[in-house]
Amino acid sequence: MLRSLKNLVWKNMKTKKQGLFIILSSPSGAGKTTLAKKLLKNNKNIELSISYTTRKKRPLEKNNKDYNFVSEEEFEKLKKKKYFIEWAKVFNNYYGTSLIKVEKINNKGKDVLFDIDWQGSRKIKKKLGKNVVSIFILPPSKKELIKRLKKRAQDPDHIVKQRLSFYKMELSHWKDYKYVLINKNLSDTVKKIKNIIEAERYENFVPVKSLTKQKIKAIYEAKRIAIQKKNLILKKIRSL
Ligand code: 5GP
Repeated sequence: MLRSLKNLVWKNMKTKKQGLFIILSSPSGAGKTTLAKKLLKNNKNIELSISYTTRKKRPLEKNNKDYNFVSEEEFEKLKKKKYFIEWAKVFNNYYGTSLIKVEKINNKGKDVLFDIDWQGSRKIKKKLGKNVVSIFILPPSKKELIKRLKKRAQDPDHIVKQRLSFYKMELSHWKDYKYVLINKNLSDTVKKIKNIIEAERYENFVPVKSLTKQKIKAIYEAKRIAIQKKNLILKKIRSL
């Protein structure tokens, strides 16, 4: 009886491929958007949830690729229609995640990647629950974060200043996330994120039996990062 039940669960797992909901958050300038782009490159199993925003388009950004840029009136209309699974006001602009788009990606059996702030992360966790993987990205230092914000050179000085003024507040939300990573080196951080995703996918959907050595390594790495959060990261946060 138990055996046949197990077989049925196993069969369902194999036939209905499920995806994860991966949240990346960070203080502005910690490199999260670059990380997201690297993660999506050559990875057909993950798709970005392209948000809606009322923020002005930066010179190098493309509509429908980086964001769906909309007016406040359009945003308000979409909000009223319950088009967003979550929305928030961040730095005086509105940002929202389309429910239909998330469903579409998920129905394909793919992972959805969210580049959203701590407010959005809270709501997504509450609504999507179990298959959510939350990752918070820290800059190696505040100096480095300022350098990156200025180097981006896509925002006027007063916007850079405004973002810096939110830094401590944004930083304070790191505890809400399962994983916290210090983004010292881009490719190392991408590797760590890939390991976390691998580990979470196996933890959530695949029976231990099918683990390879590589997957086991990924699981250990992810566990180490999750444990490290409690001591090493706490020390780090005090220095930022
Ligand atoms: P930026 O203006 O630099 O592109 O984004 C500002 C902040 O808004 C970032 O922390 C980014 O992750 C967040 N953000 C982008 N899209 C969304 C969204 O749909 N919902 C929420 N809550 N935050 C978002």
